[in-house]
Amino acid sequence: MIELNKPIRFLKGIGPKKEKVFNNLGIYTVKDLLYYFPFRYEDRRNFRKINELNDKEFCAVKGKVLARNLRKIPYFVKNTHIRSIFEIILDDQSASVSCVWFNQPYLIDKIKVGDNLIIYGKPRLKGKVLQFVCPEFEVLSSQDDSNEDSINLGKIVGVYHLASNLTQKFLRKTIFSTYNKFKKELFEPLPFYIRKENNLPIIFKSLEAMHFSNSFEETEKARERFIFEELFFSQILVYLRKAKHRLEKGPNFEIKEDVLNTIRKNLNFSLTTSQEKVLLEILEDLKKPFPMRRLLQGEVGCGKTVISAFLFGVCINSGYQAALMVPTEVLAYQHKETLDEILNGLKCKIEVLVSSLSKKRIKKIKEKLKERNIDIIVGTHSLIQEDVKFNNLGLVVIDEQHKFGVAQRALLPKKGLNPHYLVMSATPIPRSLALSIYGDLDLSVIRELPPKRLKPQTIWVKEHNRKDIYEFLKKKLNEGRQAYIIYPVIEESEKMSLSSIETVYKETQKEFSSFKVGIFHGRLSNLEKLRVIREFRENKINILLATTVLEVGINIENASLMIVENPERFGLAQLHQLRGRIQRSIYQPYFIIISKDKLSSNVLKRLEIIVNNTDGFKIAEEDLKLRGPGDFFGYLQHGLPQLRLANPVKDLEVLKKARFFAYQTIKKDPDLIKPMHKGIRDYISLWFDYKELNYLGD
Ligand code: ADP
Ligand code: MG
Repeated sequence: MIELNKPIRFLKGIGPKKEKVFNNLGIYTVKDLLYYFPFRYEDRRNFRKINELNDKEFCAVKGKVLARNLRKIPYFVKNTHIRSIFEIILDDQSASVSCVWFNQPYLIDKIKVGDNLIIYGKPRLKGKVLQFVCPEFEVLSSQDDSNEDSINLGKIVGVYHLASNLTQKFLRKTIFSTYNKFKKELFEPLPFYIRKENNLPIIFKSLEAMHFSNSFEETEKARERFIFEELFFSQILVYLRKAKHRLEKGPNFEIKEDVLNTIRKNLNFSLTTSQEKVLLEILEDLKKPFPMRRLLQGEVGCGKTVISAFLFGVCINSGYQAALMVPTEVLAYQHKETLDEILNGLKCKIEVLVSSLSKKRIKKIKEKLKERNIDIIVGTHSLIQEDVKFNNLGLVVIDEQHKFGVAQRALLPKKGLNPHYLVMSATPIPRSLALSIYGDLDLSVIRELPPKRLKPQTIWVKEHNRKDIYEFLKKKLNEGRQAYIIYPVIEESEKMSLSSIETVYKETQKEFSSFKVGIFHGRLSNLEKLRVIREFRENKINILLATTVLEVGINIENASLMIVENPERFGLAQLHQLRGRIQRSIYQPYFIIISKDKLSSNVLKRLEIIVNNTDGFKIAEEDLKLRGPGDFFGYLQHGLPQLRLANPVKDLEVLKKARFFAYQTIKKDPDLIKPMHKGIRDYISLWFDYKELNYLGD
């Protein structure tokens, strides 16, 4: 087994230079090479004779290059994007055929007269003769090596992503010989009963089918197996980490009824059923011997902050300090104010730590924090600076957690001794996906909004109706309401044909000359930002033109209108979050998107989703479907294995199954000592650093 971890430079034909190229592809060891899979396959089982080719029918042809020619198109020839044509004549003794490639002049160095070539593609009629246009090709060795042909020809052949001067042929050959040499070292990591239950082929058969396929069905089965394998092990790691975490001793919080009652009295509303349920889950966590590690998910405005306030109350009352980290200064001050109100009567000293404070003040706060003269510190990234020290940090809460990186989030809890840990997020993700990618966090979801909230009415207008919307807006402003106008960029962008926000600001002032217009974006100084938000809050500004910095947590009840300019520039989740900003209004909120008159079908689909859906989870799901998981993987936790084939969004059903079996496995055999789990244990020590296992990323 250890042999599988051998660096590839010990393989025949791989010297230091080649090794670097392989490394660039993420291949360092024998096992990496064996798990380096093709991204597509070519059917080379049935070669066509050239005299039997059919128009527009995919096929493979093998022949010898009789002639070649590279033609450059002079620069003065207009109305074409073709600048060079490389043509060869391929002959297989039955007949010959022409193949051309456009704009790839370098092919002259790759294809020589006399080379044996495989062509794969669709021939097309050009006049009366067939021709291949830009087909896939592969140069075979000039002297026929039958061993090599057996993996390159007459098969379904894998096509791999390459780097530098690596060729398909060399890679295939290397994988083939490596597989044969190390086959005896390979072992099956998945227990028999799990494979059987999920109908997955054994490792040997699967690797063979991935690299040297005999049928597309076999390859498909093998793919399924490796997708399962990846997801299964990612979840095994999650459960192992969780088990380890449960051995830690958490801070000792005492839950006193009178503390909870004081907080309830300070609220001028009662909690929703959903909030009560989550509060209960959190209080249960505090009774356990190990620290809480929980993710609290819920739509913008569902009342997450309120829930965290209970936690702060209990923490302070038990004699510990607490920290609340938020992404912006505006939010820090807003949260301090809220907590001051909700925790009134609990003798709680709350301070804000942000970078725009004076040096002197920052120093003072840090001292007070160390001497335990502050109970709750609310702050931005400033909190994770090295010289911020606590006396006895018992609770860490992170709001809008997706605005922080994994490493950043992990820093704050390290300032205490296994403090309780709550992260809050308004990004809705399907439950099973959240559970898997947030690893060892438990999950609570607030599913409902507080009652008597007015659902925003979403209105979609096209550019040519802009005037009508402006009239509507003026009417509402005259009734005393306030509005946001959201703009996608600060600077002018020629590429996206957008003017700068300053230009839009001037135009808006002109259009709404009898109202006060304010501007808010990331380039303003922190003090300036605070001033603008204060003026807007005090209704001294009627219209606030802003970028999406506003997306995060700002809470102003009189602002019931929002216009989004160029909505196609925003992600769906982002639009939904923006819409959340106005749904706290006590007046009927209106969410208005102004799009161009003409839109591509993709943009149309996306905007329709926003107009027709109000459930954030549903929107997130639709968004993922349209957009693919892309930046989703940014959420993936450190220490989870890299996924090669699996896509947690597309393979959600497999993920659920893998998670179930991983859970069963660890539950039955937490230390993986049963003989039937030897494969799992070996696989973990082969692929993962044990140090990584100890890393409590989140
Ligand atoms: P989130 O952080 O989830 O976006 P907040 O905790 O900031 O939401 O709450 C949004 C607003 O709703 C606040 O003004 C809060 O006082 C109010 N709120 C929270 N829970 C309730 C409730 N159960 N009933 C009425 N209002 C509530
Ligand atoms: Mg919030």
